[in-house]
Amino acid sequence: MTRADFFDQRRLLDLQRADSSLHQLRYRLRQAAERYETDSLDRTAEELRDGLGTFEAQIGDLGRDIDLADRELGGVARRADGCRDEMISGQADSHEMTRLQKELEHLSRREADLEDRKREALERRGKLEKAVDVVTAKLGELDAEKEKREAGHESAVAGYEREVAETQTERDRLAEVIPTALVDLYEQIRAKQAVAAAELRGRRCMACRIEKTTADMKELLDAPLDAVVRCEECGAILLRIEAAGGPAKPGPESELDEFLN
Ligand SMILES: [Zn+2]
Repeated sequence: MTRADFFDQRRLLDLQRADSSLHQLRYRLRQAAERYETDSLDRTAEELRDGLGTFEAQIGDLGRDIDLADRELGGVARRADGCRDEMISGQADSHEMTRLQKELEHLSRREADLEDRKREALERRGKLEKAVDVVTAKLGELDAEKEKREAGHESAVAGYEREVAETQTERDRLAEVIPTALVDLYEQIRAKQAVAAAELRGRRCMACRIEKTTADMKELLDAPLDAVVRCEECGAILLRIEAAGGPAKPGPESELDEFLN
């Protein structure tokens, strides 16, 4: 039967607590890393940028349409001026005057068509420019959201990493002051299961939660306090704290510190 000072045995519970915390913290750290995602933001931004590209191309096309309409309007105005000049010059005969009159009418219709086309293009361009403003603002919001998420993620991960480091230091400090043979036994058990040391609370092993029979209890309580006893069900080292007259729960941190110093 392995023997170890009961106080040393009790410190296995602190070691177990530190190991369980470490396990949990590492799990949370992994989760925090996985939970962080900006893929959906990136996808939305990409769609918006595609839309923005289309709008900008259309604005470019409309600009060219408007320029073209302006140039044609200039040509129409020059031709109309020419017609009017000819009409008032007194050089044109009646046949020519009729032709000039018809051409002026034609130019006037052409001018009205071009003005309509230009107005429609200007209106459409105005709407597209507003849409570009809206999309640009939305892209800015997405960027800000992404930055916020990245910062939040970084601080969450940094927080967990700090906690892991602190708990690891505390764990190492605990392991150092427990006799090596006891730590080795604990490590051997922990290689197989999450809980390697637990309290016997009442009749219950706090590792596997199975209650001991009266016969088992007698055997456990009859064993000397410095005997390292194990749970027959789960194999965990059982700490008989209640039986030893100690508190059902581990003593305050100050008691441990006092002991360690
Ligand atoms: Zn057990």
